[in-house]
Amino acid sequence: MRTILLNTGTELLAGDVHDTHLAFIAREIFSVGLRIAERRTVGDGPAIGETLQELFSRAEIIFVTGGLGPTSDDITRDVTAELLGLELREDAELIESLKKRLKARGLKWVSSIARQAQVPVGAQILPNENGSASGLYLKADINPKTRSPHIFLLPGPPRELQPIFRDSVRSILRSIVKGPPRFERRFYKIASMGESLIEEAIGTKILAIPGVELGYCARPGEVDVRIIGERAALDQADQIVRAQLGDAIFTARDEALEDVLVKLLTKKNQTLAIAESCTGGLLANRITNVAGASAVLLAGYICYANEGKIDMLGVDPKLIKERGAVSEQVAGAMAVGARKRAGSTYALATTGVAGPSGGSEGKPVGTVYVALADDNNTKAKKLFFPSDRETFKQLVAQAAFEMLRRKLI
Ligand code: ATP
Ligand code: MG
Repeated sequence: MRTILLNTGTELLAGDVHDTHLAFIAREIFSVGLRIAERRTVGDGPAIGETLQELFSRAEIIFVTGGLGPTSDDITRDVTAELLGLELREDAELIESLKKRLKARGLKWVSSIARQAQVPVGAQILPNENGSASGLYLKADINPKTRSPHIFLLPGPPRELQPIFRDSVRSILRSIVKGPPRFERRFYKIASMGESLIEEAIGTKILAIPGVELGYCARPGEVDVRIIGERAALDQADQIVRAQLGDAIFTARDEALEDVLVKLLTKKNQTLAIAESCTGGLLANRITNVAGASAVLLAGYICYANEGKIDMLGVDPKLIKERGAVSEQVAGAMAVGARKRAGSTYALATTGVAGPSGGSEGKPVGTVYVALADDNNTKAKKLFFPSDRETFKQLVAQAAFEMLRRKLI
């Protein structure tokens, strides 16, 4: 069924607010077999009505977000009712719950709030537990005199829209879209391997399977491969992806590299310490974002200056002087020192030149060493990631995590 999303809000067009509804809704509806065919964004005002009218002719389902609040620029409800030739009636129960809500918060009743209790005749109220504007569902051809698609009006704030979607919209969609979804989607995430290499490995073979859609999404230090199609075709594609990429795939689920590391270490009952110079704590930050990280992470050392590397990790000052802080030897010594101080199974270390200044002929901006130490081995790897500081840190973190993951599998 052709599904269209209409985002409303002048703040979106002004660039003050980033739209998050498309990503959320697109993911949610996939499980019932729907995909967003088109998305439009308009400001608060008459454009909402004009756009809706235009979309009526080519949509079977429309989601409209925003503009359900009490202020004068919130006109989605009125515009929709007018377009469909439906009368708005005040819903007594909604008025009661709005009054209760205000009272509980010690707020005064303002007459404009009552607008949020206005319901187009025949529309279904989608309760909002987290705000005052309820969502509304207007079934297809709700007014027999006007042809119209299924319409969902949803409040703008994500913390209100998302629960309404899960609690009410999903089940309505299931009743509209009868039968199981025709297509499925699979995900594969690969770290520290370029997009074009991945395409070379799987592209032609996958696209030769009829009915399979293949897509790549490149992020710093990671490529997500996405295939969409009917189950039988996907099973065939899955075999190719796994045979070609094998261990390079760190997950086939919606999870990050650090999630995989924490799981692997926990399963093996092993621990980790992290020594960071150029990444400034990013590795430790990402690991500690994972629930259950305390079972595996013993310590993280941010030793940015040479003194830090010497005092915190026991790196030999002579080594730093002879080889430089950004060197294979110092990276290795940092990992060995961190592992020893923390008493962990493994230690990762990073040291590099993030730039934009500080580069030299032998060590240009972007040069970085990543090291991994365990009880009988220390391995350091030289990498080159010339980019802005933030991307540089992400790339280094991915490379370090991937180095450890390879060790663990
Ligand atoms: P309210 O009752 O809060 O007025 P509303 O339904 O009228 O809700 P809007 O006034 O359009 O919604 O938006 C309220 C807030 O919701 C915006 O300031 C913005 O922070 C957030 N918001 C709106 N649209 C989006 C969007 N597409 N993506 C992310 N956030 C959004
Ligand atoms: Mg509003």
